[in-house]
Amino acid sequence: MTMTYDAAIIGAGAGGLSAAARLVAAGKKVLVLEAKDRVGGRASSEQIDGFTVNIGAIAIERGNVFEETFTALGVPLDVREPDPPTVFRIDGKLINVSTGGGWGMLLGTFTKQAAKIGAKFADARKGDLPEDALTTAEWLAKYTKNETVHAIFRNLCAAIFAVNSDELPARAFLTYFALKGAFKRFGFCPRGTVGLWNDLAAAIVARGGEIWTDASVTALRTENGVVTGLDVHRQGETQRIQARTVISNIGPHATIALAGESVLGAEYVAQARQTLRPSANIVLNFATQTRIVDAPGLVTFGRTRRLCNLGELTATCPELAPPGWYLYVAYAVPRPAIGDFDEKAEIEASLQDLRDEFPGFDQVAKILSIRVMRGEWPAQRSVSGFDLPQDTPLANLWNVGDAVKDYGDGGVQACALTGLLASQKAVAFLDGTTEAAHG
Ligand SMILES: Cc1cc2nc3c(=O)[nH]c(=O)nc-3n(C[C@H](O)[C@H](O)[C@H](O)COP(=O)(O)OP(=O)(O)OC[C@H]3O[C@@H](n4cnc5c(N)ncnc54)[C@H](O)[C@@H]3O)c2cc1C
Repeated sequence: MTMTYDAAIIGAGAGGLSAAARLVAAGKKVLVLEAKDRVGGRASSEQIDGFTVNIGAIAIERGNVFEETFTALGVPLDVREPDPPTVFRIDGKLINVSTGGGWGMLLGTFTKQAAKIGAKFADARKGDLPEDALTTAEWLAKYTKNETVHAIFRNLCAAIFAVNSDELPARAFLTYFALKGAFKRFGFCPRGTVGLWNDLAAAIVARGGEIWTDASVTALRTENGVVTGLDVHRQGETQRIQARTVISNIGPHATIALAGESVLGAEYVAQARQTLRPSANIVLNFATQTRIVDAPGLVTFGRTRRLCNLGELTATCPELAPPGWYLYVAYAVPRPAIGDFDEKAEIEASLQDLRDEFPGFDQVAKILSIRVMRGEWPAQRSVSGFDLPQDTPLANLWNVGDAVKDYGDGGVQACALTGLLASQKAVAFLDGTTEAAHG
């Protein structure tokens, strides 16, 4: 059986579903193909022993393009915002930067150079940014040697970008914190992050879109420099789908594998190999019956081995845990986060940090899961500052997701923007307004 769609979307992650939402809003006939039995990709959730545990993203930024994607289909964004959203925990003490002197006050506790660092953020806001090659750690070392300040910056790099501060361009760090969202306002979904994607998926279907789960795309079909369709393996059979445009949410390397290197060309293949830098992180989900930290939002740590931040989700969303339980997620970033590392040793270092931060941790914590996000299922398909363009050598094929982000962007917000931009390119192609469509 052959079917024709305006757009076929490979993968129902943040980028793929955002693109699908925009395309159905534009009146296009859309098919989303997802290999797993659930939507959301690396921003989804699973059930473990009566707890709703997130796989990946938990903090969903309010406002901007992510929320607009939901608004475009009339779907309310079901998140609860913690107040305060973020605190720091330095030497066992909680510091709330949303009151009082903010960042300046925090850094001023540890270094006389706080004002100078603050001035550099102000310069960044005016467009004065360091050159690409300088890492965040090198940039910071120009102003201070203070170990706690370096640890705070390392843990911010780890929490937002899933890398160490010597793996992230200072330019990307400053672009994010001075010019972009910087997670100032965010919330948690009381049904787990998958709840948001289930809401958006239902609205896509209500507008005539189709979403097939347990449907793995096995090949991209091309002819004369354009994609004509794809092969999908589903319910034990391979089916051919015809599509006028294709949006891929599986990362450029996997997209190349589906189309074939010769089809996308040596230059694009080499660009993907040279540019993309996937990074890893470690997610520790655990629960306690007595609260171990009194902060409703995300807690960023100071000097640790690997642990960067932690959130007690039940402070805002008690329904994520059975009665009487507190549910936490802690994030750690290995050294190095880009490239190979000893998984067992990195998990142990992360657990040791939790034991140091919370004496008696082993006695009170019920570990629900420890996941190392790497390889095919990474923390970031490419670190901020090392993204590919969304366009491919094929006129009607674009990538979305966290390997093709806008410079210095991060999180599902960044993926939603890739979805919006790809949908606009697809609509232009479909409506015949691009050169390629006329050609
Ligand atoms: C531990 C962790 C914590 C994070 N925390 C946050 C956070 O708090 N806030 C935030 O904003 N961001 C966070 N992020 C980042 C965010 O989760 C990711 O950047 C985002 O979810 C990636 O989405 P994506 O669009 O790249 O798609 P992906 O999530 O990569 O989805 C791709 C989809 O394609 C499917 N697929 C693959 N191959 C095929 C195929 N051949 N056929 C069909 N389907 C296929 C996969 O099953 C998957 O569902 C976190 C990430 C991690 C790992």
